[in-house]
Order: sequence, then C-alpha cells, then structure tokens
Amino acid sequence: MAETRKKPQPAVKKKIPQRRCVGCQGTFDKRDLLRVVRSPDGTISLDFSGKKSGRGAYLCFDEACFKKAKKSGILARSLECEISPEIYDALEHEIRAAETNE
Ligand SMILES: [Zn+2]
Repeated sequence: MAETRKKPQPAVKKKIPQRRCVGCQGTFDKRDLLRVVRSPDGTISLDFSGKKSGRGAYLCFDEACFKKAKKSGILARSLECEISPEIYDALEHEIRAAETNE
C-alpha cells in the first residue's frame, strides 16, 4: 500500500502564543513582548530568543508599562527575584530603541 508522506496541514497559520504584559495586563503575541527570564541558577536576563529556560515575565514595548513595572516592582514580584538596575536599563534601552524604529 502506497502511503504519501504528506501530513495533513490545517489551512490556518501557525498560532503565535499569547502572553500577558506585567504592566498593562494586556495580552500580546509573544514575539511582540520583551521577555525577562530568571534562569534556574537565579540569573536575571533579557531573553530575545524566547527560548531561554526559566521563569519568565513579559513586558510590552510601551514605556508607560516599563515605568509602571519598575516603580511598582511588579517584575520582581512576578519573577520572585530582585531585578538589578542593569536589567531595567537594558529594558528601557530596548523599549526606546523599538520606539525610534517606528
Ligand atoms: Zn504593557
């Protein structure tokens, strides 16, 4: 019996996972958010690939959300970890860079 190797593919596009911004609580495509990740060894870093392992928190590219997250410490709370000023600086840099690109 001849079988084709072609698997049936749904006509819809691949779904992009939705994640919630810790600032505005809005849901966005994962790729439209900045991911801050706490790796298993406790290091906080920005994850541009979306593939780093660890606990992640997401922030949209809105400066208001960044400011809110920084001021309220919501990012630290959601990661259950201290966020260093360097991380906030890096986040701010990314958000500013994204704004000027538009
Ligand atoms: Zn937001």
